[in-house]
Amino acid sequence: MKTRISVIVWNEFRHERENAAVGAIYPEGLHTTIANALAATPGLNPGALPLDTSTATLDEAEHGLSEARLASCDVLIWWGHKVHNLVDDAVVDQVQKRVLEGMGLIVLHSGHFSKIFRRMMGTNCSLKWREAHEKERLWVVEPSHPIAAGLGEYFELPNEEMYGERFDIPQPDSTVFISWFEGGEVFRSGCCWERGHGRIFYFRPGHEAYPTYHDKNVQRVIANAVQWAAPRVNIVDVCPNAAPLETISPKAGFTNVGITQTKADLV
Ligand code: ZN
Repeated sequence: MKTRISVIVWNEFRHERENAAVGAIYPEGLHTTIANALAATPGLNPGALPLDTSTATLDEAEHGLSEARLASCDVLIWWGHKVHNLVDDAVVDQVQKRVLEGMGLIVLHSGHFSKIFRRMMGTNCSLKWREAHEKERLWVVEPSHPIAAGLGEYFELPNEEMYGERFDIPQPDSTVFISWFEGGEVFRSGCCWERGHGRIFYFRPGHEAYPTYHDKNVQRVIANAVQWAAPRVNIVDVCPNAAPLETISPKAGFTNVGITQTKADLV
């Protein structure tokens, strides 16, 4: 039984270093802002576990996500935007493997086009967008969902980038938030899926030009999502050829090929 949750906040960490206005909002990178908020408030769900937070960025060796580090990670949070293409496919493979084993994955904002999110979804993950400093109202449409713990009927962000439907994703298992934007569009902005043994949450807000990750409601949602996405199991699937539990009586006309098959025979 786990008593703590290990969280890595991953960021490509380019906008903050290349754009002074973004750097002023997130002087140590938005990953540090998110990690600090999580460490201070680990979620409002009943039974919420304390979090051990750390960060990783694109320019570190293996993007800070070595196999050993991922092996001890319970929940990975992902923010990327302008250099999705620079993420090593071998790291994407490892992250996917860990999600299928049970690790949680939270993908933020422009991470909708990240290699790992598109890999896990299997769709284009495209959407409409517009940068016009619009009000966003996030409606809580599943108030009983653990990710909505402590929130009201809705919350608002005074300025955000617009993302509009159609969002090309597979049908979510749960849609916790739907956003309305000042310009008229709507968007499924809090979506849950299970893949293998792992849980995935996509959360829309977080354009780098706005102080979104300083917002208390946004921080609360991410913390709640970490608690929800924490692994319940850690299982490496191996596709075994299984001996029968009971004696199977011989049947005329059949040879017992099933017992001698190897995985290689089946692919
Ligand atoms: Zn954006």
